Amino acid sequence: MIDFELEPQSVNWLAIYHATAEQLMRPISRQYDENEHEEPRQFWQTSWAASRNTASAPDDRGPGGLRNLYTCLSTEELCWGDAGLFLSIPNPGLGGAAVMAAGTPEQKMRFLSRFRGGKPKWAAMAITEPGCGSDSAAITTTARREGDDWVINGTKIFCTAGLMSAEKSEGFVVVWATIDRSAGRAGIKPFVVEHSTPGMTVVRVENKLGIRASDTAMLSFDNCRVPFDHLLGSAEVTPAGGFKDVMATFDATRPIVAAMAIGVGRAALDFVRDFFEQNNVPLRYGISPRRLTAIERDFMEMETQLKAARLLTWRAAWMLDSGMRNNLEASMAKAKAGKAVTLITQKAVELLGPLGYSRKELVEKWMRDAKINDIFEGTQQINQLIVARRILGYSSKELN
Ligand SMILES: Cc1cc2nc3c(=O)[nH]c(=O)nc-3n(C[C@H](O)[C@H](O)[C@H](O)COP(=O)(O)OP(=O)(O)OC[C@H]3O[C@@H](n4cnc5c(N)ncnc54)[C@H](O)[C@@H]3O)c2cc1C
Repeated sequence: MIDFELEPQSVNWLAIYHATAEQLMRPISRQYDENEHEEPRQFWQTSWAASRNTASAPDDRGPGGLRNLYTCLSTEELCWGDAGLFLSIPNPGLGGAAVMAAGTPEQKMRFLSRFRGGKPKWAAMAITEPGCGSDSAAITTTARREGDDWVINGTKIFCTAGLMSAEKSEGFVVVWATIDRSAGRAGIKPFVVEHSTPGMTVVRVENKLGIRASDTAMLSFDNCRVPFDHLLGSAEVTPAGGFKDVMATFDATRPIVAAMAIGVGRAALDFVRDFFEQNNVPLRYGISPRRLTAIERDFMEMETQLKAARLLTWRAAWMLDSGMRNNLEASMAKAKAGKAVTLITQKAVELLGPLGYSRKELVEKWMRDAKINDIFEGTQQINQLIVARRILGYSSKELN
């Protein structure tokens, strides 16, 4: 049996996220867009305190063990509020996802338990380098064994929450580095580098088109020494380990990024619908397509794209929760949602005319915030490539 209805407990739980988005995020959205590197400290304190209020929130596994699906649902609500502020919320983030995907049970406990208390904390994941983005197997950052330590050298760019994780909180950065260049992909391993570790430096923080409330940092690692057991998982170089953990991390994070896109798209759709209602522009459902106005067609196309992306996203997350391999579905959801939100927000600006383009409203901001969903966690093209490979049965060497 298939059931897409949420039970009442979950509806109430999502209403809390919606209220957070509406009452805490929307009112400060413009301020932190215009002042890119200003820190929304009050918002961080409130969201950090709320995330630890486990009495009213579902447990870590989510209702029915659907942790990933429920993360997608809450992500959509919060990104309806503001995607940049969402990414700035203190939490384990992408670094935590890498620990979950690659760490041993003991490492998960050791590195993630800190997010249950104390001051706000962040964790980031650093894969991208000046010479490698989409082709993440071409990582050149190295980790060399020296006694009981690893010594990391290299440069990472475009690291989300890099500044907060590396310098400004008691968080950490998961750095992907090769321990054996000759082994290719199999030699690539994730390392937890604790905040303020000597040798790790924040070189700069980027100025960006969108999601400007989120810090994006360039980090350098110069003889940065970490304990041996900060390598997540096994240090053994086998074809089954290493780079496969990068992919496993993406299988978990791509549905969440898709949910982010859906939240931004829904914000734009809701705004346009309200505007039409207030200005007596009809949206007639259930009539022959031949009688629809161009505006009605556009709007219904936007709605259709959003709903299709949402269903793909829920499926990808549900498969992960059910212990199924979701590599294909995670990329499908990410590719579809990135494309959908780009179309929806551009159309929203178009349909609203000068109001859409004006900074008076947030629609132009949502259009800028939307584009990142086509770039990080695998670009639109890379996710389409993965989908094609999986459907046609090609390896990454055969189709690239
Ligand atoms: C705001 C922001 C936050 C980010 N956060 C993180 C983070 O937290 N951690 C992290 O590690 N990285 C992060 N990134 C980096 C991001 O993951 C990369 O930008 C992305 O993987 C693309 O890599 P690239 O920029 O080097 O582009 P390239 O790989 O150089 O690609 C350029 C263009 O070519 C296309 N292309 C490349 N290869 C192919 C191919 N085989 N077939 C067809 N088209 C292709 C791409 O789709 C793209 O359109 C972030 C980036 C941004 C902008």
